Amino acid sequence: MSIRQSDVVIIGAGIAGLVAAHECLEQGKSVTVIDRHIREKVGGLARTAFGGMALVGTPLQRRMGIRDDAKIALADWLSIADFEASDTWPRRWAEAYVEQSAERVYDWLTEKGLRFLPAVNWVERGQYVPGNSVPRYHVMWGTGLRLVERFVELLQPYEDSGRLHWQFGARVTGLVATAGSITGCQAEIEATGDRCEFAAAHVLVATGGINGNLEKLRENWYRPWGEPPAEMLNGSHPYADGHLHDVVAANGGVVTHLDHVWNYAAGIPHPRPEFDLHGLSLIPCKSALWLDHTGARIGPEPLVTGFDTNELCRRVSVLAKPYTWQVLNWRIAARELAVSGAEHNPYIRDSKAIPFFREILFGNNRLVRQMQDECDHFIVAPTLPELVGKMNALNGDSLVDLDTVENVVREFDANVRRGKSQWNDDQLRRIEHARAWRSDRIRTCKPKPLLDHPPLIAIKLRLITRKSLGGIQTNLESRALDRNGQPIPGLYAVGEAAGFGGGGASGRRSLEGTFLSGCILTARAAADAIANS
Ligand SMILES: Cc1cc2nc3c(=O)[nH]c(=O)nc-3n(C[C@H](O)[C@H](O)[C@H](O)COP(=O)(O)OP(=O)(O)OC[C@H]3O[C@@H](n4cnc5c(N)ncnc54)[C@H](O)[C@@H]3O)c2cc1C
Repeated sequence: MSIRQSDVVIIGAGIAGLVAAHECLEQGKSVTVIDRHIREKVGGLARTAFGGMALVGTPLQRRMGIRDDAKIALADWLSIADFEASDTWPRRWAEAYVEQSAERVYDWLTEKGLRFLPAVNWVERGQYVPGNSVPRYHVMWGTGLRLVERFVELLQPYEDSGRLHWQFGARVTGLVATAGSITGCQAEIEATGDRCEFAAAHVLVATGGINGNLEKLRENWYRPWGEPPAEMLNGSHPYADGHLHDVVAANGGVVTHLDHVWNYAAGIPHPRPEFDLHGLSLIPCKSALWLDHTGARIGPEPLVTGFDTNELCRRVSVLAKPYTWQVLNWRIAARELAVSGAEHNPYIRDSKAIPFFREILFGNNRLVRQMQDECDHFIVAPTLPELVGKMNALNGDSLVDLDTVENVVREFDANVRRGKSQWNDDQLRRIEHARAWRSDRIRTCKPKPLLDHPPLIAIKLRLITRKSLGGIQTNLESRALDRNGQPIPGLYAVGEAAGFGGGGASGRRSLEGTFLSGCILTARAAADAIANS
């Protein structure tokens, strides 16, 4: 069996692995990066990510008149995270995040030639507990794909000089332990079945979360929510299977909070699936009516996105059927519909400012037409009876009741017609609140009766998996800890594999956009620790 030796072995070429590699190479180390994917897929999930990051106290926030600092952000984070008393390392990572994100993510990426869109969005405002007190969601110009491409560019000279070795198409199966230290890993070349070994003084696990493995997700389902839904879509990737979590645990590491996940309530099947149950996550329109399988409005409190993503997931997971419907019209879809990820945001991904701002100003009819053409779960019809007919045809049953839907829509429309001073609906109140912030105002419609603006649209939605909030427990140097809280010599965990720091820096919920940035912070911390060891 062949053995390759380097100073550092990084398992996983996602954004956490790429950043860790860059930082270790900058410090003069030799590095081997191993990944199951082929070279063209380098970057893991970040390749397809939208590129939104929660950043605290940035120059861009200041330019928009937003006063933010680590103290405000920590209070928000602790409110949303709802940490347990024993969550020492997750909490310390939360503190590190709010202290460091401006300098060690925003400034650092900017120095590397990356840019952010000139607007800061306000997501996860909180519903029953406070969320983001202020807007802090920064969007990378070029999406997650540009982030990946930039790091691949930065790594190229090191490959050319021979200090960086890539091993693609290899699945790491186990770690090598020598006299109490982790000194390497074993892998299988997937195309040939050949076995090989990689030796290093420092081994970083950067293999992502578990949310690409629906079986594991179901096993670890958050029990207070009851049973997991019978149907879910996969919004991660099957390689995020949690195998290395098990391997680390078998080598004395601690894996925590796998029942804490960051899923989304509005998934539809990907029209060009790359794997079983591959889903797309829609950013649900705030002005759409969210209905259950009969067509009744889910309530009494309506479901509205932008306040508490986790609560939306809880509400849809406890319904009688594992799917919901949104009913809206073309006017709303063109202004509010978005799909999370690089693929469906081509003008941001390709940094094309003029068409991007044109869509912001005049509506994204391109995306709505694309959804209509490509997705059978995206139904368009001129009237409600035709729409409901098509909804039932898609399901092959008659569970959606036309009278029920008509009553819901007519009641909502009557409320809107009464005029702003007499609006008495929680969804309308939240739309008004959202529209008060300028970046949201242009993406949230002024309420108008739904039936006045055909064609009508219905979207069939399922829960879609995405990020694991829990993971391998680490200290602030990203060293994997054993059951006594001591670092396991030679072993580190970064990115989603480490629950974005400490085995679950987000706690129960995220302020949103804490993932790519959490990968960067944990990867840089590991590289610093290696340099100082
Ligand atoms: C569509 C989409 C949109 C998103 N948008 C955002 C966003 O806007 N903002 C945000 O903060 N986050 C977003 N995310 C989440 C974010 O992209 C991920 O949390 C982050 O990229 C995880 O990076 P990682 O390096 O830790 O893991 P991954 O990207 O999962 O990379 C892990 C790598 O390890 C490899 N691997 C796994 N097991 C093995 C093994 N046994 N042997 C060898 N290799 C292995 C995998 O092939 C993979 O390449 C999004 C995710 C998706 C899918």
